[in-house]
Amino acid sequence: MGPIDTYYCFACLRRHEKDSAVGRGHERYDIEADLSTSATQGHLREFYLQTKGIVAALQILGFENVRIRPARFGKGWPSKQAIERRFRVLVRRHHPDAGGDPEEFRKIEWAVEVLRKYRPPDEYHS
Ligand SMILES: [Zn+2]
Repeated sequence: MGPIDTYYCFACLRRHEKDSAVGRGHERYDIEADLSTSATQGHLREFYLQTKGIVAALQILGFENVRIRPARFGKGWPSKQAIERRFRVLVRRHHPDAGGDPEEFRKIEWAVEVLRKYRPPDEYHS
């Protein structure tokens, strides 16, 4: 966890101070923002946030050269297997029980949740 008065912004892929101008303006991009309204699973309610979140999640999981147009429905998604494989590799590297950074781990969990939730079913990819 980072300092209590900062949060991780998925629009900028870095932390903001909550009390700064950009921090106040980007509250909706806080990766924990949805968790405050849904105890079970965070999700991105607006289409625009889904699009932003998908782009960020792909980057966090290291899919650097993936371009999906439009992000929500377009072609170009990594396969489910590729996403899960990348997730497992990163979890091993960053798990707090193995000495990893808890914040890095949380970002990876957030990213895979976003991709699992919003990746279109396979019939859209053929
Ligand atoms: Zn930001």
